[in-house]
Amino acid sequence: MFLSCKLKLSKKLVSFIVAIMVTVMVAGCTEQVPTATVTTSKPAQLTPNAFKSSVSQTPGTSNSNVANIPALSPTLAPVFLPTATPETATVNDIDKAGPTTTPGLTPAEQQDQALAGNIPSTVSGLDVSKLPRVNGLPKIPLTNLIPATQAAVPDRKANYGAKGQPKVGIQAGHWLIDQLPDQLASLRAQTGGSGGGVREVDLTLDLARRVTQLLQDKGYEVDLLPATVPVNYTADAFVAIHADASTSGAPNGYKLARSRFSPIPVTDDAFVKAVSDSYGAATGLALDNNITRNMSGYYAFNSRRRVNAVSKGTPALIIETGYLTNAGDRAFLLSKKDIIARSIAQGVINFLSNRPVLELREKPSQTTPALVVSQDNIPVYDQADGTPIAYLSKDQRFEVYEVRGDHYVVFLPYLNKTGFLRRADAATVTLPR
Ligand SMILES: [Zn+2]
Repeated sequence: MFLSCKLKLSKKLVSFIVAIMVTVMVAGCTEQVPTATVTTSKPAQLTPNAFKSSVSQTPGTSNSNVANIPALSPTLAPVFLPTATPETATVNDIDKAGPTTTPGLTPAEQQDQALAGNIPSTVSGLDVSKLPRVNGLPKIPLTNLIPATQAAVPDRKANYGAKGQPKVGIQAGHWLIDQLPDQLASLRAQTGGSGGGVREVDLTLDLARRVTQLLQDKGYEVDLLPATVPVNYTADAFVAIHADASTSGAPNGYKLARSRFSPIPVTDDAFVKAVSDSYGAATGLALDNNITRNMSGYYAFNSRRRVNAVSKGTPALIIETGYLTNAGDRAFLLSKKDIIARSIAQGVINFLSNRPVLELREKPSQTTPALVVSQDNIPVYDQADGTPIAYLSKDQRFEVYEVRGDHYVVFLPYLNKTGFLRRADAATVTLPR
């Protein structure tokens, strides 16, 4: 985000900012992400049986496994991506940008950042160090984001394709991001990462086109989607394709996440597992379990507050296909696009093929549990029965939390870290989703 701003930044300043971002990102990586889970099991072998079972549900698709996915059409020739350029990296990314300190944000912009899973660490332009103090510790101002949308829950259908076949949305991460609607204006600068002279968006678009073609060849209806997701987008599956970037060449591997607010967590977990298993088995890349809050809070998942998001009940995941900033990953990403695309397509097919019949599918939850802080100046601790690190305002809400013994574990806005809240200090409520 910083690196794409129109200001001419000196190299030194860029290095300085990158150093800050790394510090923040590293700090962020140590945080627990309460509900985002990614399977850690060994990738399973793809079985023809899994695919066979799809035949009854997927008219027009052939009975074959991934080995028989037809060759890519010549129109999908890889775009030229130079690899000989110096090792430079940008980490400007919706799904991985760490907490930011952007001075002078309007409340609406702060909310926008928070909605992208990127809760600002400033208060109306003030530094966190200028937060109100209680007993020498920061007091977190009341930060309750009100659901902005009440999008209709789509009718339940066995398949959403026009011809009764499954419909899949494949999003090329960052593609045409400058065209995001006004509600997402603050994300328009998230043009994606890069590494070794390769832009993330060039790779994600190439991969998304290939996956789209492969699924279309199998008879699925597929939408190739840019950064802007259609309003209340409904499909049988939605995949956002991204690639990672780091300021160091060391991190490597792929990772997947579903929404931490998912109204269909069981279904989404099965979707993540299907694609993760297929991807891991076919690519041999390492599985990275460091899911960021910006992945599990991906803007296109946020049907509670976004108009341009997947509808409640649309299985959705984001995949980081590997690190453009890691030489090994990058070489693979650029030279094995066919394998990568096939494995993602096969993961989608496996998920769709193994869904229960409509009557037995998970129904989108209409409510979400939440905590409400019962009094003003309630302390949060660094650990169970530990040292206070901050104070909370009365009525502060936490919609994602973990229960640990006598405490709740919550993610603190503004401070961007987890804290322990005594269970006696908060009430549980149920909110409309
Ligand atoms: Zn990205």
